[in-house]
Amino acid sequence: MSEPYTGGCACGAIRYEVSAEPIVMLDCQCRQCQRESGTGHASHLTFECEPVVEGKATHWEAVGDGGVVKRRAFCPTCGAPVYMTFPDIPGYFVVRAASLDDPTRYKPQLICWTASGQPWDQVDPQLPKFDKMPPR
Ligand SMILES: [Zn+2]
Ligand SMILES: [Zn+2]
Repeated sequence: MSEPYTGGCACGAIRYEVSAEPIVMLDCQCRQCQRESGTGHASHLTFECEPVVEGKATHWEAVGDGGVVKRRAFCPTCGAPVYMTFPDIPGYFVVRAASLDDPTRYKPQLICWTASGQPWDQVDPQLPKFDKMPPR
């Protein structure tokens, strides 16, 4: 396996380390990711692992457009969204691409929720696109 994936929030209060390779890396254009990121999409790396997390994040939960409960964690000091877990699907840990110490490790493989994509949010035309979630 390669180096662990490490990262954290903008101010450094929240830090994580993941010793696994991502199972998928994707850009999500759902309305929740738009509202929460303040722009056209959020970029996620999904891991199946037990992460090491330092620092105390604030959490909020919402049912995603696909019906899955998402527990989003952000830093109470700097407000940066850092990671996400799923209370009904334990074992998954999703981090934001820009929270990585080395964001070049993010290599998006697909775009999901293009049905709610904004015309001003240009994404890689080479990547596979899904109206909603890709089939598992
Ligand atoms: Zn912070
Ligand atoms: Zn989304």
